[in-house]
Amino acid sequence: MEEATYLAKFGSTVYIVHRRDEFRASRIMAERALANEKIEVKWNSGIDEVLGSNTEGVTGVKIRSTTEEGKTEELECAGYFCAIGHTPNTDFLNGQLETNDKGYVKWTVGGRTNTSVEGVFAAGDVADDNYRQAITAAGTGCMAALDAERWLAANGIE
Ligand SMILES: Cc1cc2nc3c(=O)[nH]c(=O)nc-3n(C[C@H](O)[C@H](O)[C@H](O)COP(=O)(O)OP(=O)(O)OC[C@H]3O[C@@H](n4cnc5c(N)ncnc54)[C@H](O)[C@@H]3O)c2cc1C
Repeated sequence: MEEATYLAKFGSTVYIVHRRDEFRASRIMAERALANEKIEVKWNSGIDEVLGSNTEGVTGVKIRSTTEEGKTEELECAGYFCAIGHTPNTDFLNGQLETNDKGYVKWTVGGRTNTSVEGVFAAGDVADDNYRQAITAAGTGCMAALDAERWLAANGIE
C-alpha cells in the first residue's frame, strides 16, 4: 500500500496486482490506496510474466487469475515493482538461536544485541521485524560489533 501510494505521485496509473480479494495491510494504508484515483487494483491475480525486451525495457505484465482457471490479461506499464512481504533469512540457524513468532532472531537483553546463545550477537534485518532499513541495520551492526568486542574482552579472549 505504501509503495503504490508513493509511486502514484510519479505515474499516471499504478496497478496493484493482488492474489486475494482483500488486503492484509493496515486499514488506514489500504483505505488511502483504494481512495487514490490513480491506483487500480487487480484482485485475485498473480504476475505470470513481465513483458518487454532489452531495448524497450518493461512494456507490460501478463497477469493470471487465481480464481478463474486459464484467465489471463495483459496490462501495459512502464515499470514493475515487486513488494511481496518479508521473510527473515534465518532458516540456516536451524533453531539454534531463539526467534520470535515471525522468525526474527530475538534480542534477549534490552537495548543490546545479545541472543539466546552466549557470545552470539545479532544485527540487521534478521533481528528487526519493525524498521528493516539500511541505516538501522548498519546501526545494529555497529552495536553487535561493540557487544562482541566487549564480550571477548570480558571473557579474556583476544
Ligand atoms: C527492494 C528493497 C528496497 C529497499 N529500500 C530501502 C531504502 O530505500 N532505504 C533503506 O534504508 N533500506 C531499504 N531497504 C532495506 C535494506 O536493504 C535492508 O534493511 C538492509 O539491506 C539490511 O541489511 P542487512 O545487512 O541486515 O541484510 P542484507 O543486506 O540482506 O545482507 C545479508 C547478507 O547475508 C547474506 N547471507 C544470507 N544468508 C547467508 C548465509 N547462510 N551464509 C552467509 N551469508 C548469508 C546475504 O547474501 C546478504 O549478503 C530495501 C530493501 C529492499 C528489499
